[in-house]
Amino acid sequence: MTTRKRVDPDLARLDRVVADARRAREEREQGYRGRALKLYPWICGRCAREFNHGNVHELTVHHRDHNHENNAPDGSNWELLCVYCHDNEHQRYLDTRPLAGNDSPSGSTHTPFADLAALLKGGG
Ligand SMILES: [Zn+2]
Ligand SMILES: [Zn+2]
Repeated sequence: MTTRKRVDPDLARLDRVVADARRAREEREQGYRGRALKLYPWICGRCAREFNHGNVHELTVHHRDHNHENNAPDGSNWELLCVYCHDNEHQRYLDTRPLAGNDSPSGSTHTPFADLAALLKGGG
C-alpha cells in the first residue's frame, strides 16, 4: 500500500481548462470594453454624465440587443452607460418582455398581466 499522495492528472487538466476558459472570457470582456471605450466618448448615453480615468469603472458597456456575444467590430451593438442607467436599461427590458404580446384577443376581461401593469405604472 502506497502512502504517496496521488494527483489525478485528469482533474489537474480540468482545473487548467476551467481557468483558461475563465481567463479567455475575462480577456474577451476586457477586449470589447477597451474597444468600446476607445470608440466612444466617455459619456453615459442616457444621463450624459461624463467620465474620466478616475471614475471610468462606473461606465459600462451595454449591448443594445442584450446579446453579449454580439460584439460587432464597428461597435454598433455597444452603448456606454453609467452603472445606474445600465441597471435601468435592463430593468426596463425585463419589465416589458413578459407584457409583450398581451394584446391577444381573449374573451376574458380580467388578465393578471393587466393588474401587474397597473400596479407597476401606478406604484410610483
Ligand atoms: Zn447614466
Ligand atoms: Zn446591458
